[in-house]
Amino acid sequence: MIKNGLQSAVLVAVMMTAPLPGQRPVEWPVHSLQRPHPAIIHPGGPALIAPPADAVILFDGTSLDAWRADADSGVARWRVVAGALEVAPGTGGIHTAEMFGDVQLHVEWQAPAPAEGTGQNRSNSGIFLMGRYEVQVLDSWENVTYADGQAAAIYGQFPPLVNVSLPPGSWQSYDIIFRRPRFDAAGNLTVPARITALHNGVLVHEDVVLQGQTAHQTRAKYLAHADRLPIALQDHGTKVRFRNIWVRPLTDQP
Ligand code: MG
Repeated sequence: MIKNGLQSAVLVAVMMTAPLPGQRPVEWPVHSLQRPHPAIIHPGGPALIAPPADAVILFDGTSLDAWRADADSGVARWRVVAGALEVAPGTGGIHTAEMFGDVQLHVEWQAPAPAEGTGQNRSNSGIFLMGRYEVQVLDSWENVTYADGQAAAIYGQFPPLVNVSLPPGSWQSYDIIFRRPRFDAAGNLTVPARITALHNGVLVHEDVVLQGQTAHQTRAKYLAHADRLPIALQDHGTKVRFRNIWVRPLTDQP
């Protein structure tokens, strides 16, 4: 009887802290090394998708015209190499000249081979929606780091559902559907941002509700911002390459 009573008490406690249907719990400390890593599965390959007719082309293999340097909003100082856009380490991040809110974004990226460094120092870059919400780019092939910072993680918030990383030197794809946050006139959050994403054609985030803008070693929170802002790519000191970057602005959700 005592045991049953204890079980009931435990069950009640679990029910009280259990997430609502559709909600993913976030009880892990930021960058927790104890947080479980997603299962590793081999994807069928990257999803190399040609831009649809209504896409805005951000990089077609030839020109950096759509991009600006974060440092001074001048000419982007990354390099175009063999049809790819390569990070020029130390020059800083770059961002689109055009501004976007809700989008469908396609990006292909390649970590250099052979791999160098470990953990967060192996081919780190990132795709920042609205310059604030990072989908992590990292070589997570046989490279362990904290789960909320591995490839395709929403940095510091959500590990991907599965690790579908390909070996360094392979082209990989991200397809990201992003719904921006909404703020009222006083700057209070009214609707949080949401992300659905596929890595190499495999679902890694399904309509995840973001906790705020990306932060390092601290819990994310929202800070009010404009309805449209540039998409940014991160210079984290390694020569990650990008290609076939296109975006489809989405109509506002009611
Ligand atoms: Mg990064």
